[in-house]
Amino acid sequence: MTKLVEKAASLLREGAVIKVIGYEEGSNKTRPFFCEKAEDVERLIYNGRCTNNLAVYLTKPELLGNGKVAVVATVPTMRSIAQLVKENQLKEEKFLLLTVTKEDEVVEFSGFKEMNDYLADIQLVIDTKEQELINKLDGMNREQRWAFWQQELSSCFKCYACRAACPLCYCSRCVVEVNAPQWIEPWASPLGNMEWQINRAMHLAGRCTGCGACSDACPLGIPIHLLTHKMMEDIDRDFGATFNNSGNVLSTYKVEDKEDFIR
Ligand code: SF4
Ligand code: SF4
Repeated sequence: MTKLVEKAASLLREGAVIKVIGYEEGSNKTRPFFCEKAEDVERLIYNGRCTNNLAVYLTKPELLGNGKVAVVATVPTMRSIAQLVKENQLKEEKFLLLTVTKEDEVVEFSGFKEMNDYLADIQLVIDTKEQELINKLDGMNREQRWAFWQQELSSCFKCYACRAACPLCYCSRCVVEVNAPQWIEPWASPLGNMEWQINRAMHLAGRCTGCGACSDACPLGIPIHLLTHKMMEDIDRDFGATFNNSGNVLSTYKVEDKEDFIR
């Protein structure tokens, strides 16, 4: 029995939480698991293959139910939780946050602050293939980048799986569903696809935590997370306002803010 299984069993048996949101083995990959009974805890796993960002469920009261919920959080999940906390979307008393170390030890956080302190020394890691693509985009001029994204987004069929997978896309009514006025063409088309992704990237400006869940969810493998990743880099460079700092770039104004993006 792993330490995680032991911990989850005791939390559920003692009634400290009503469910443990973690991971279980799926048919060919791991998947999220909402464990509500102590007899099911053996299904809980935690390893490097657990990549779903569980923070996406934490803003959905219909999934959480009435009572405290334990979350087995990976680093990307914790980063998203930290951003959701900054945006006043999570109530501390509702969650018991856990993570598992490389040594399979379970860490239980006393609250959001302790989780933030734990995250403070953990750098965002970008794998080599990803960095190559970022470098390729950085090496392009504006016209080349536009052509690259036009080509990539030409196959998007507006399934919105990217939106559903993102913990920070939590609006109850998304701009793409507003039809009076119709801001964005609802059908898939070169213009509508571009409008959709530019809107998505702008709404996530300075909020995206770089988890990659959006492109992992895209059935076509479009690297849309790089749009928000680039926003994250640019905003960090120009405003120093990534998820590590307080304030959100689109809702915080300082007189010394640069305005050189207005051309
Ligand atoms: S990488 Fe994608 S899913 Fe993750 S926070 Fe950014 S936009 Fe959302
Ligand atoms: S998941 Fe992919 S195909 Fe679906 S809307 Fe997003 S970019 Fe388009």
